[in-house]
Amino acid sequence: MEWQQARELFAAAQRITVLTGAGISTGSGIPDFRGPNGVWTKDPTAQRLSDIDSYVADPEVRRQAWRSRAENPAWEAVPTAAHEAFRALDDSGRLRAVLTQNIDELHQRAGLAPERVLELHGTMFATVCLNCGESGTMRAALERVAAGEPDPACLTCGGILKSATVSFGQSLDEGVLRQGHRAALDCDLFLAAGTSLTVHPAAGFAELATRAGADLVICNAEPTPYDDQAAAVLRGGLDEVLPALAAVPPSTPERP
Ligand code: NAD
Repeated sequence: MEWQQARELFAAAQRITVLTGAGISTGSGIPDFRGPNGVWTKDPTAQRLSDIDSYVADPEVRRQAWRSRAENPAWEAVPTAAHEAFRALDDSGRLRAVLTQNIDELHQRAGLAPERVLELHGTMFATVCLNCGESGTMRAALERVAAGEPDPACLTCGGILKSATVSFGQSLDEGVLRQGHRAALDCDLFLAAGTSLTVHPAAGFAELATRAGADLVICNAEPTPYDDQAAAVLRGGLDEVLPALAAVPPSTPERP
């Protein structure tokens, strides 16, 4: 029933905006935060590493964060059928944008054009100085860690260096937020995939889109707070569900 409904919505949709979360990349070997095998489900204290106040105040939190960055499975990860499904959707001309909460760049590595992807929470492959804003590559910073600097400082001003990701307590990039708003308002179908829809403002895009008249389809293994607003909720694994949805042919001709 839900599957049939989702198929019909995908067939009718002309402009599809997608919000993805960590669940998209669990098939690539990168654990999510809140799923049954999530990093925070297994170790709730790990949340401290994602809190900006702890990061700034406590050098031990920073040292731990640098160690975990070096060990992040995303360095070795490759995209799966779930990521590739969006490239297929883009090829059909109906993908408006992918707003991702992920920091692993796997959407781009699956071949999606970078301008289609809005990285709401930044990227783990770059660094930024919290004092002067200077950016650099994560690889270069991790080389300094491996060479014996457990908490490398900014080479320009000596400030605290951090991954170019949005931690709890930090604001999202205003330009990215604005583009996200536009993409949420400018779609007739909003798909939320692999996200618990509990992190704001990202989760709010689903509500924004439905208020503007879009149909909401949720693909997630576990319930989300937005399930009752959705026109269809699919619980299957994303590596099966998303390619099947992306393969649904449009029922009306594409717009010129
Ligand atoms: P989350 O951990 O809160 O939720 C992920 C959801 O995906 C869970 O509800 C889980 O049931 C579901 N899920 C996991 N694997 C699935 C699968 N194969 N098929 C269907 N559903 C599946 O993640 P979130 O909502 O993205 O929020 C967490 C925050 O963590 C984000 O801000 C993000 O920046 C960050 N994060 C990113 C990565 C990454 O870049 N890959 C990994 C972990 C956390």
